[in-house]
Amino acid sequence: MEGNPRIENLELRIQTLEARSIPAQHTLGAAFVQSGIGLHTGLPVQVRVLPASVGEGRSFVRVDLPDAPEIPARIESVGQTLLSTELRVGEARVRTVEHLLSALAGMGVDNARIEMDGSEAPLLDGSAREWAAAIAQAGIIAQSAPRLIWSLQEPIWIRENDAFVAALPAPELRFTYGIDFDLPAIANQWHSWSPSSGTFAEEIASARTFGLADQIETLRAQGLIQGGSLENALVCGSDGWLNPPLRFANEPVRHKLLDLVGDLSLLGEIPTAHFLAYKASHNLHSQLARSLNELRTVSH
Ligand SMILES: [Zn+2]
Repeated sequence: MEGNPRIENLELRIQTLEARSIPAQHTLGAAFVQSGIGLHTGLPVQVRVLPASVGEGRSFVRVDLPDAPEIPARIESVGQTLLSTELRVGEARVRTVEHLLSALAGMGVDNARIEMDGSEAPLLDGSAREWAAAIAQAGIIAQSAPRLIWSLQEPIWIRENDAFVAALPAPELRFTYGIDFDLPAIANQWHSWSPSSGTFAEEIASARTFGLADQIETLRAQGLIQGGSLENALVCGSDGWLNPPLRFANEPVRHKLLDLVGDLSLLGEIPTAHFLAYKASHNLHSQLARSLNELRTVSH
């Protein structure tokens, strides 16, 4: 039997519409709750992530403080970036926001309200796996306004000694990351990920935070990583990993890429570009986001 011409016409019309369509903004299909302890504070915290309206973006709300101050997850809110990214508005702060933000941005959630009853997001298992699973379960729904799309005309880069971050003009979004450690278990690792070649949930979300065994006591003495343990961070010593197995052979560099996506999400919309980072830090990631934000402001 020949194809039904009416159905063929319909398929053609749908294909034409899809080819023309600009991606819509997205939010969550439902709210969800996660609880855990903060990496640095070691304190328990509960987080409620709720759908938000078109154009609202991603923002944190400190529901434990008087008047429940809102802290937009934007580059303008970045405070200190020592071992995690902190956002603040006035006296209100939220710390270690990068894994949750990475999961939201990496899975295409543009608008979300994140209510927290403490100052640091929970570390959970040290990755974004539980965030990604909760987002998938809540559902991701299209909204009635287009997402802002922007791209780069010129490369932009920031260097600090032999570490750097760069954004290069490219036809599609891609992130490439390199790290290099003296410890043989980590050594030199590179990873490149594009959302068009594999999902955030499968390729990036489950890569865990890692730390070096010989730095743990120093960091603890400085009041940092009070909530860190062998359950929520990979720890590496000169003889190898203290708590194997790894989820990926190059899990550490995939985690750095996860952090980079989270820090760049503070732009609201990450521009279409190839992001390239080597031995970088939250500080360099944030500097790149700040420079890109200024570039966007100037060019509009
Ligand atoms: Zn991280």
